[in-house]
Amino acid sequence: MNDECGCDDLVSHLHQLLDAELEESECRRLQRHVDSCPACHEAADAEAHLRSLIRRSCAERAPDRLRIRVLAQITVLRTQGPAAGEARG
Ligand SMILES: [Zn+2]
Repeated sequence: MNDECGCDDLVSHLHQLLDAELEESECRRLQRHVDSCPACHEAADAEAHLRSLIRRSCAERAPDRLRIRVLAQITVLRTQGPAAGEARG
């Protein structure tokens, strides 16, 4: 059994992680990766922030544009590393 969590793993489960839809052990495994990987930490942070904004604005639906921006940022972080992900604003 491979206990290591990769970036692909994390990204594909990020929503479930934030929705608390995973088993506790799986949750811990992903969280451990978030804590140790700057790129995924950034991505998880951005997604969590996005969610809190959505909740606060009481939107009935998640704004797709914002979601796409976050997903694009995650892709940049994954392909170019954390330094390249420093966005303006
Ligand atoms: Zn990672």
